[in-house]
Amino acid sequence: MLGCGTVGIATARLLQESGCDVTIYTKDVPPNITSNLATGTWSPASRVCDVKVAKPEFQKTWEEATRYSFRRFQFLLGMDEIACWAEEYGVFEKEPAYIPGAGGEDFEAHGLIPDRVKLSEKEHPFNAGHVTRRTNLMFNIPSYLRHHLNDFLMFGGKVKIQEIKKLEDIDALPERVIVNCMGLGAKPVFNDAELTPVSGQLSCLIPQADINYKLYTNGANFISRKDGIYIGSNGIVGNWDTTPSKEQTEKTVGILQKLMQEMKG
Ligand SMILES: Cc1cc2nc3c(=O)[nH]c(=O)nc-3n(C[C@H](O)[C@H](O)[C@H](O)COP(=O)(O)OP(=O)(O)OC[C@H]3O[C@@H](n4cnc5c(N)ncnc54)[C@H](O)[C@@H]3O)c2cc1C
Repeated sequence: MLGCGTVGIATARLLQESGCDVTIYTKDVPPNITSNLATGTWSPASRVCDVKVAKPEFQKTWEEATRYSFRRFQFLLGMDEIACWAEEYGVFEKEPAYIPGAGGEDFEAHGLIPDRVKLSEKEHPFNAGHVTRRTNLMFNIPSYLRHHLNDFLMFGGKVKIQEIKKLEDIDALPERVIVNCMGLGAKPVFNDAELTPVSGQLSCLIPQADINYKLYTNGANFISRKDGIYIGSNGIVGNWDTTPSKEQTEKTVGILQKLMQEMKG
């Protein structure tokens, strides 16, 4: 196995369940990986493919994988809040326009999570014309990654810190079957012209026990986790620069601050 992000660890566990001995070779382990920076929303359709070029059979494969992973996530519920259900509010002036392929939910697997419902003015405290709510799964990322890594080690898995710099490094590994889960790190190794990053910036506030929901609005969103209230907003396609922007933080915090100040009662 190459890579120790959420994809590498989950794949390694499935291989172990099928009876394989697995060694993960990886440059970095949590927390120094992209997976540690995810917000933690169950969003299996988000940016999963470019709907304009995906073949029709891809949707079937996606749905099978989505239903399988959803079922597996149910077994994490109630375990120290690795995964939990949380209310998710969409707060807008008007119903937002849906743009296919923009990173929204182009595919849907029906019957897994409750449908999004539009709330009447009396049913919500926001000063906004279009408010929706649905209950969704969310993940407390640090405990999620730690749990799966611990399980991997408990079932005899090994982790070796090793950077793969070229294809010959993979050929030199003793294993006969290799699974590539290096995420963005695969691009230079495989000289992959299509692999494209999507950057996103998160800002973190000190956790507040009485804020236990997720909210998204024009230009900003937040998710309330055990380790903090994570504020996000942007997704810049093709951007490799991970330098944090203070202006971006101030902008998103400002949008959410205004929304909170305008809440009724
Ligand atoms: C701000 C933000 C918010 C997000 N929110 C969500 C969300 O709410 N829900 C969601 O589902 N997704 C979310 N995502 C996307 C999600 O984080 C990624 O899709 C996911 O983490 C990718 O996991 P991975 O295991 O493929 O990659 P990574 O976590 O990047 O892991 C790659 C692994 O490969 C190793 N590696 C890389 N190159 C090499 C090399 N050359 N040699 C050896 N090892 C190497 C790395 O060290 C690492 O261990 C978000 C992303 C961002 C940036």
